[in-house]
Amino acid sequence: MSATLAWPCAAVPEAELGPRTTIRVGGRAEWLLEPAHPDELVAAWCAAHERGYEPRILGGGANLLVPDGLLPGVVIATERLGRVFRPHPEGGAPEGDEFTPVLPARTPLERGADARLVAWAGATLPALVRITRDLGWSGFEGLAGVPGHLGGGVAMNAGGRWGETWGVVESVRLLGSDGVVRQRTRAECAPRYRDGNLDGAIVLGAVLAFRVDEPAAVRERVAGFLREKSAAQPVTEHSCGCVFKNPDRERSGGLGAGQLIEAAGAKGLARGQALVSPKHGNFIVNRGGACAADVLALIQEVRARVADRFGLELELEVKLWR
Ligand SMILES: Cc1cc2nc3c(=O)[nH]c(=O)nc-3n(C[C@H](O)[C@H](O)[C@H](O)COP(=O)(O)OP(=O)(O)OC[C@H]3O[C@@H](n4cnc5c(N)ncnc54)[C@H](O)[C@@H]3O)c2cc1C
Repeated sequence: MSATLAWPCAAVPEAELGPRTTIRVGGRAEWLLEPAHPDELVAAWCAAHERGYEPRILGGGANLLVPDGLLPGVVIATERLGRVFRPHPEGGAPEGDEFTPVLPARTPLERGADARLVAWAGATLPALVRITRDLGWSGFEGLAGVPGHLGGGVAMNAGGRWGETWGVVESVRLLGSDGVVRQRTRAECAPRYRDGNLDGAIVLGAVLAFRVDEPAAVRERVAGFLREKSAAQPVTEHSCGCVFKNPDRERSGGLGAGQLIEAAGAKGLARGQALVSPKHGNFIVNRGGACAADVLALIQEVRARVADRFGLELELEVKLWR
C-alpha cells in the first residue's frame, strides 16, 4: 500500500519545492500535502499534528525562500483550493457551510448589487484581479501584477501604494494554532503594513467586498498599474518579490528599501546565479540555476552594505524557511 494513503488528502513524499516558488530555488519537502477543500486542509493539519509535525503553509511561493536540500516535516499547499464564488443568499447557507460553492462568480452585476465574493485560500491574486476587472467591480485593482494566492496575500497583507489585500477583505476563515476554525472580521484582525496580523493562523478562505463600478474604468486602472509595475520591477524574471520591507521613512530620510540598496552600491551585486536586479534594488533575481545559499549570501551582503552606509538594519519581507 502506498504511504500517501495514510494522509487525508493527496500527498507527495520528497516533493520538489523550488518549482513551486516564483524565484525557483530550494530543495524538497519531506511531505507535501495538497488538500482540495478547506475541510481537507483542516484534516491534513490535524493528521500532521497527530504525527508530531508543525506543518508549514505554501501559497503561490511568491514571497518565500525555501532552503536547499531536504526540508524535514510537512508542507501543506493551497494550490488546489482555488474556488471563487458568490456568497449564499442571506441566511441561505447551512450552519458552518458558507464556504461551500453555490453560484459561479462570473455573471455581471447591476450597480448597487451585493458585490461580494467568497474565495478559498488558493484562489490566485491575478485571478481575483481578472475576475473583478471583468465584472467591473472595484477594490482589487491595486493588486494588479502581484503574484501569489489569496491566503498568502491575506497573511502578508500584500499590496503597495495603490491598495492592499485587506482593503477588500470583509472577513476571513482561519484555522488557529489551537486547531479551532474561526471566522474573523477585518477589525478583529487589525492588519498592518505587509502583515495580516494573524498570530500564526492559517487562512482557509475569505469573504471579499467590492464596489460595482464602470467596467471600462476598472480595466483602465488595472492596465495602468500593470504598466507602471512592469516599468519599475523585474516582473518577467524569477524573483521572490521585495526582499526587504520599506523602513520607517523618517529613519531612512524618505528612501524606500530599493533606493537605500541602490545608494549603498549594492544594485547589480551577484552571488552565483543570484543577482540584485539592476532594475529594482529590492529584488533578487535567479538568472538560472541559483541556489538558496546564493540568495541568502546576497541578502546578507546587501544588508551589511546598507547598515554600513546608513546605519539602518533592513527587515526581511521575504519569508525564509529554515
Ligand atoms: C514579481 C513579483 C512582484 C511582487 N509584487 C508585490 C507587491 O507589489 N506587493 C506585495 O505585497 N508583494 C509583492 N510580491 C510578493 C508576493 O506576491 C506577495 O507577498 C504574496 O502575497 C505572496 O503570496 P503567496 O501565496 O505566494 O505566499 P507564499 O510565498 O507561498 O507564502 C508567504 C508566507 O505566507 C504564508 N502563507 C501562505 N499561504 C498562507 C495561508 N493560506 N495561511 C496563512 N499563511 C499563509 C507562508 O507560510 C509564508 O510564510 C511580489 C512577488 C513577485 C515575485
